[in-house]
Amino acid sequence: MIRHDPAPDPVRAPWRAAMRLALEEAARAALSGDVPVGAVVLSPDGTVLATGHNEREATGDPTAHAEILAIRRAAGKLGAWRLTECTLVVTLEPCTMCAGAIVQSRLDRVVFGALDEKAGAAGSLWDVVRDRRLNHRPEVIHGVLAEECSELLTSFFRDR
Ligand SMILES: [Zn+2]
Repeated sequence: MIRHDPAPDPVRAPWRAAMRLALEEAARAALSGDVPVGAVVLSPDGTVLATGHNEREATGDPTAHAEILAIRRAAGKLGAWRLTECTLVVTLEPCTMCAGAIVQSRLDRVVFGALDEKAGAAGSLWDVVRDRRLNHRPEVIHGVLAEECSELLTSFFRDR
């Protein structure tokens, strides 16, 4: 596949490397027949704290979304439930459950690739993460490697 050099994008460019890791995680989900969504939690200094991919089919757990697994592992590694100053990078816009977990874990920032117009809760259908009635509202950056992220999903559903 030929990739054209993207236009300069100072908001999204810093997150592309982490999104590539999330994409690698997403590809792992497909191995167990799971919808390919991958997530990475970055520590305040930008190093990888934890990763996760969708494991609903693999584990039979309806809550085993990539974000939930990555958040749990990151908190386990830190030994604390607060992920203040950390960033969650995920290939697909979080659903309501994951958006709730993002708020609960006090993540500073959510970076995602593709929009989920059918179930997204970070700007598409709802905007749970930036609801002004909540006292914790992480920063949201969307559209990082959006084409790669949605292409992975499109080809998964096409090949089923
Ligand atoms: Zn979710």
